[in-house]
Amino acid sequence: MPPVYRRHRKRAVLSYLLMIVLTAGVLLFVCWLKMSSDYAEDPVILTSETSLEKPVQSDPFEKIEPLACGLDPELPMVALTFNDCVTDLTPSLLETLVTYGCEATFYTVGYLAENQPDIFHRLVESGMEIGNHSYSHKQLVGLSFEDASAQFGDTQKLFDGFSGNAGTAKTVRPPYGRQDETVQEAAEAYGLPVVLWSVDPQDAAAKTPEELCEKVMTEAEDGDIIVLHDGLDNTLNALPSLLEQLKNAGFQVTTVEKLFASHGYGLKPGFCYDRLP
Ligand SMILES: [Zn+2]
Repeated sequence: MPPVYRRHRKRAVLSYLLMIVLTAGVLLFVCWLKMSSDYAEDPVILTSETSLEKPVQSDPFEKIEPLACGLDPELPMVALTFNDCVTDLTPSLLETLVTYGCEATFYTVGYLAENQPDIFHRLVESGMEIGNHSYSHKQLVGLSFEDASAQFGDTQKLFDGFSGNAGTAKTVRPPYGRQDETVQEAAEAYGLPVVLWSVDPQDAAAKTPEELCEKVMTEAEDGDIIVLHDGLDNTLNALPSLLEQLKNAGFQVTTVEKLFASHGYGLKPGFCYDRLP
């Protein structure tokens, strides 16, 4: 072969190899980005719920008679929510809330309630709101309708069996805040609205209780839903100061149901909510 052709062939092979290396690099980077956004900073069970997809919907609210529940809808109000309940720390969270005269919604995982039924009973008896956070805390996006609805349905059955009342959990929060049409249909099948959040201080990543409080206080506005996690020492340690600061700033701290109902908003099954309109 003449030298000029050999040079061309060598160049072509080198370009080909370079393209393969570049393509592989880009693919690896994309995979890394996806994994780090889905699975970063898991506090207890698996991850912090940070990969939030904003709901897209029209007219999701139902006008109802405002619920008289001791809250003033004319004054600022936030809903406080805990994910990944129940844990050994749940009783201490309850105690702190009671001390400060505040309420919260506890998004409870089916198998965790099954592991610690005594703590789940204390939660029911406390009168705080209980939400459905799936049975096994697995990623629901990508599951079939049957599998996704079993995650909600098995948990509903379990909670109702424990509490002795139907409809113990009135809303559902899918793990990691990730949901798609199938997940929403599965929630609708059990009469459950999907509730996400609008303020996420990323408590699993917060270095100190002070930092956590500061993040919430910087972001929180009237009508927000704040997400925290059960099972984190930092969150438990921050809670007294956080409740005090929220109250000093004029906020009423309540459950998801009361936040909406006190303003005369009913939530529709299968629709997705992250704050007051
Ligand atoms: Zn969770």
